Amino acid sequence: MSDEIRVNGKCHCGNITIKAQVKLSEVRACHCTDCQKMSGAPLRAIALAPADKITINGTPKEYIKVGDSGNKRIQAFCQDCGTQLFATDMEKTVFNLRTGFLDQKDALSPTQHVFTQSSMPWIKTIIL
Ligand SMILES: [Zn+2]
Repeated sequence: MSDEIRVNGKCHCGNITIKAQVKLSEVRACHCTDCQKMSGAPLRAIALAPADKITINGTPKEYIKVGDSGNKRIQAFCQDCGTQLFATDMEKTVFNLRTGFLDQKDALSPTQHVFTQSSMPWIKTIIL
């Protein structure tokens, strides 16, 4: 039954801490060009938490990204250290947590890859 795990994390400077409950089956690696740009990395891994299963301490800075479709998404990060924390819809119903700042990131293995049409051409060659 327990596809769900509790996660917690804090930003690099420690001003913001987040606790949440996420489903392992809903961990994704996103290869979209916005994730590449905004993360500064070739892809970004996310874990989904509904609003009633997340607790945020501190005040993340919010940047509203407007997609090509006109869709708006809140992108939240620490305004002091720049750690990326989550994205969410304008009504804040579901939070896409960036897994890199979570203490349990080792367990958050992506089960889905999305927007692979813009993935790096070398992505399948990196086997450590
Ligand atoms: Zn910070």
